[in-house]
Amino acid sequence: MLGANDGIVSTASLIVGVAAASAATSDVLIAGVAGLVAGAMSMAAGEYVSVSSQADTEQADLARERAELVGQPQFERAELALIYIERGVEPDLAQQVADQLMAKDALGAHARDELGISEVTTARPIQAALTSAATFAVGAAMPLAMVLLTPRSFLVAGVSIASLAFLALLGAIGARAGGANVARATFRVTFWGTLAMALTAGIGAIFGTVV
Ligand SMILES: [Zn+2]
Repeated sequence: MLGANDGIVSTASLIVGVAAASAATSDVLIAGVAGLVAGAMSMAAGEYVSVSSQADTEQADLARERAELVGQPQFERAELALIYIERGVEPDLAQQVADQLMAKDALGAHARDELGISEVTTARPIQAALTSAATFAVGAAMPLAMVLLTPRSFLVAGVSIASLAFLALLGAIGARAGGANVARATFRVTFWGTLAMALTAGIGAIFGTVV
């Protein structure tokens, strides 16, 4: 969802900026396609790097925990029990819980309750990179399609209005799915989208007359 937002805002802003500089439709289209590809690649690379380093950290934490469980099992028992005591469990019961969880899966119990790593949060860099590139490209395709559908004289207005409508729609769907306030979420995304497009349109118009 976030990737699609980025795709709409950055590609629409790029298109509006180039169109406001009175470029031909074919140039606007080239700029938009380049923006789609560049944005999707940069999203994928950024996501890959960030999720990979998260995965490295998780692996290093798990390796250290595994060594500690072998090297100092008594200390690790007490450590896990202390975590439950701090969460409000009585000391005797906390020790029992720690012992029983460790008897079944010691590393799993420490990973979950001490390190905060669960199966679900275990990082997958390639999957994350592909997902953000794809969602960005889907978002970017919306303003690009508007370039093909709108006559040149209405290009700036057409792409801006349609992109804000896409953003509002996505914001509303996202807020509804997440159980958040629909009006507030919609206002937030359209506000930033408007600002981005107004800025690039202004810059495009200035450059268009100067250059
Ligand atoms: Zn531990």
